[in-house]
Amino acid sequence: MKNSDIFEKDREYIVHTYNRFPIALKSGHGAHAEDFEGKTYIDFSSGIGTNSLGFCNDAWTQAVVSQVKQLQHTSNLFYTLPNSLLAERLCKITGYSKVFFGNSGAEVNEGAIKLARKYGREARGEQCNRIITLEKSFHGRTITTLSATGQDIFHQSFFPFTEGFCYVPANNSRALYENVDDTVCAVMIELVQGESGVNVLEKEYVKQIEKVCREKNILLIVDEVQTGIGRTGTFLCSEQYGIYPNVITLAKGLGAGLPIGAVLMDKLTENVFQAGDHGSTFGGNPIACVGAVEVLKQVVNKDFLADVKFKSDFMHKKLSAMPNVTDVSGMGLMFGLSLKKKLRAGEVAKKCVEKGLLVLTAKEKLRIMPPLNITKEEIDAGLNILKACLSDILL
Ligand SMILES: *Cc1c(COP(=O)(O)O)cnc(C)c1O
Repeated sequence: MKNSDIFEKDREYIVHTYNRFPIALKSGHGAHAEDFEGKTYIDFSSGIGTNSLGFCNDAWTQAVVSQVKQLQHTSNLFYTLPNSLLAERLCKITGYSKVFFGNSGAEVNEGAIKLARKYGREARGEQCNRIITLEKSFHGRTITTLSATGQDIFHQSFFPFTEGFCYVPANNSRALYENVDDTVCAVMIELVQGESGVNVLEKEYVKQIEKVCREKNILLIVDEVQTGIGRTGTFLCSEQYGIYPNVITLAKGLGAGLPIGAVLMDKLTENVFQAGDHGSTFGGNPIACVGAVEVLKQVVNKDFLADVKFKSDFMHKKLSAMPNVTDVSGMGLMFGLSLKKKLRAGEVAKKCVEKGLLVLTAKEKLRIMPPLNITKEEIDAGLNILKACLSDILL
């Protein structure tokens, strides 16, 4: 079978919602992947931050395969061991009180939004149902999480959208204060805005958001769907900001490639949802849960996280010195490269894939998110390809 056989089937039968790169991946291990024609690639994309342990990590594969053979799914009408084990691990690691499991970032953000509205209503009255989010944010693709997303480009074709969201510019405390009143039940933010260009929020600003929220009994929801699970060099990115949000959502890296998301709730919010308030048929599926337990086993380890930081510093230095790169933003193993005007990120990304390096884009930036356990050799190999692609000669 050739790559092009797959493109043809895809083109004929799959809705064209994605701008795919013209390769079909067949197998992978670590940060190496291979397509259907035997060509190999270094992976600086990790399935958009999901393959936290790379492709088919040995211990993760073993845990998942053994669960597949034992019990694949029960629905949430029954207790399962993997489900409760994962919840316990997540709470012990983060200090949060309770967890709700969903299957994706959008789904757990929906859960957090529902939770905030119920909290607002019960604690402060019926009028208290609005949520402030940031301009340039990204919170998902459902109608409500699109509403929460502060980008006009996502608000074009799907009216009517869910009401009750208001957007303020990031890193501007005054704009936040001006919009806070007794109708606001929550502020929802990403600490590093991934999809809109790997924009890191200022620490002082985030501290101020937390302070205002505490003073006014407004919930602080931090969407760590992309920044969580060690991606920024600490288990949660919130740790580096010195904040303790009421609610944190996790997804992408949690399952190492299996669909799972989690809403973490603190003492104030742990009892908001009661039986029947929320649910998910697949949420907290045993297979995804054993995969996630294995992720936590590997990631929540001082050496592992120190290594993420070390690799982050190393890559940041190398990326900053690349030809045609004007700025490198990001935290941990999450980078946004601004390029000289004459270069288009999409074109550079295409070139990289052609030359054997999987990369991403975020708006006008080139985006790089390798698996967290990428080796020094794999980093070097990837950086060499990137450097060649960024040189004028190749474009
Ligand atoms: C990817 C992402 C989402 C959406 O996650 P899905 O699993 O695609 O629904 C939400 N928030 C942030 C910050 C993300 O990066």
